[in-house]
Amino acid sequence: MQHDPAPGLRVLEDRLHEALERLQEPGTAWVPPMAAPGGGVVLDVAILGAGMAGLAAGFALKREGVSRVTLFDPAPEGSEGPWATYARMRTLRSPKQLAGPALGLDDLTFRAWFEAQHGAAAWEALGKIPTGMWMDYLRWYRRVAGLDVRSGVGVARIVPEGALFRLALSDGGVAFARHVVLATGRDGLGGPRLLPGFLPEWRGRFWAHSADAIDFAALAGRHVVVVGAGASAFDNAAAALEAGCRRLTMLLRRAALPRVNSGKSMEGRGFWHGWHALPAEWRWRLMLSVERRQTPPPHESVRRVAAHANAMLLTGAGVQGVARAGDALVLETPRGPVRAEFVILGTGFLQDAALRPELAAVAGEIRLWRDAYVPPPDEADAALGLNPWLDEGFAFTEREPGRAPHLARLHCFNFAATLSHGKVTGDVPAISVGAQRLARAICTRLLAADIAAHAARHAAFNEPEITGDEWPGVVL
Ligand SMILES: Cc1cc2nc3c(=O)[nH]c(=O)nc-3n(C[C@H](O)[C@H](O)[C@H](O)COP(=O)(O)OP(=O)(O)OC[C@H]3O[C@@H](n4cnc5c(N)ncnc54)[C@H](O)[C@@H]3O)c2cc1C
Repeated sequence: MQHDPAPGLRVLEDRLHEALERLQEPGTAWVPPMAAPGGGVVLDVAILGAGMAGLAAGFALKREGVSRVTLFDPAPEGSEGPWATYARMRTLRSPKQLAGPALGLDDLTFRAWFEAQHGAAAWEALGKIPTGMWMDYLRWYRRVAGLDVRSGVGVARIVPEGALFRLALSDGGVAFARHVVLATGRDGLGGPRLLPGFLPEWRGRFWAHSADAIDFAALAGRHVVVVGAGASAFDNAAAALEAGCRRLTMLLRRAALPRVNSGKSMEGRGFWHGWHALPAEWRWRLMLSVERRQTPPPHESVRRVAAHANAMLLTGAGVQGVARAGDALVLETPRGPVRAEFVILGTGFLQDAALRPELAAVAGEIRLWRDAYVPPPDEADAALGLNPWLDEGFAFTEREPGRAPHLARLHCFNFAATLSHGKVTGDVPAISVGAQRLARAICTRLLAADIAAHAARHAAFNEPEITGDEWPGVVL
């Protein structure tokens, strides 16, 4: 990608590089190199995903002097994550001032980037961050962080091989890495939550998940039904309405939209730093409560849909069944049948490592919350139980102790980490906290693994600082 920053950005980038120099960062490279089977160099860390989390993790590692780090992402360069594809909202939900992936460097914040180009007055006038602008910021972040990203190349399979992982790449290549980080996003340890009866062969023609590529222009003149009422459901409904659909019906299981974003009551740095050390019962109870209370859509998204007279919201109308009727689907609901010419499932995502092909070799070894914690009967929740039980460094743990020690080098830095670590992966506010915790844990484990090599290097170290001529006449 061409690099010709605006003059303001050039000044910012110079300042950022000076700050890093003053901090003596990136630190000295200290991890001994290793030869890969068949030649080449082993990566200290391979990161799957070059979205916000992958970039923050990569830069946090680089700053700590872990130098052989490569990010892989099947997305074309500059289109990682949802922002340029299925994020159909106009702006981010988050307030603009969040420090996000800046890792404690004020010149790396969205605000610094924005003001360097548009000035302080424009910052004051800016409401929420337009989605495309956030993607532009991440593109800039990636460039100034100087990360090694292999765009267009995904990791198809992760196979433990002694002290390494063998990574089968989507372009047919192979890479070896000592640690692997899954920075794979919202569905990074699972997939879209689909409803029974929505046949795969109908996908794209009669229905789509909200994260699919959808040809909205083709929905013009049709009756579109959106199932769900979260942020993505509303944003997809708005996109269908704006593309000229004839009628838009939103089906909501509940009697009313949730109004309160209960997760916001748990903001504050104590939650970021201390969540993973809380007893399991508190973590489970609080996360379950947030799920049960549900998160309302942003009011901007509701207004965007409500602006259309041909939109309606049907409450108490959870989908109970679906059948094909000619060129349409008929959805059974407690409010009666609803005929849809296209259905968009705004049903979110679920965590289930068994759904991820790249994890096929290890998924069965991973300890899940359901293996580690039994909640009281009124707090039982099968989906929550599928979340991985992670250690303090975001690494997977073994279902059977001693059977899969390589899992301590396989780190889950995506949304599935939330139950174990709190909201320090995925969302914008505390991604830096998560990335720095991850980087330090990897440093700790690399040092421990290499301690004999470091000791040998220490024994052989012979770089004199006293040369013998400092004190004339005295033998030193
Ligand atoms: C529509 C939408 C709106 C959101 N709005 C907000 C918001 O306003 N505020 C907020 O705080 N959060 C928001 N979020 C949540 C969060 O900020 C985003 O999901 C964000 O993209 C998370 O960054 P990430 O790096 O974890 O994942 P992503 O940005 O999704 O990046 C993951 C990357 O992993 C890659 N990948 C997947 N599998 C592999 C593989 N096998 N090998 C290599 N690469 C792989 C993918 O191609 C992808 O590029 C939103 C999420 C969505 C979906």
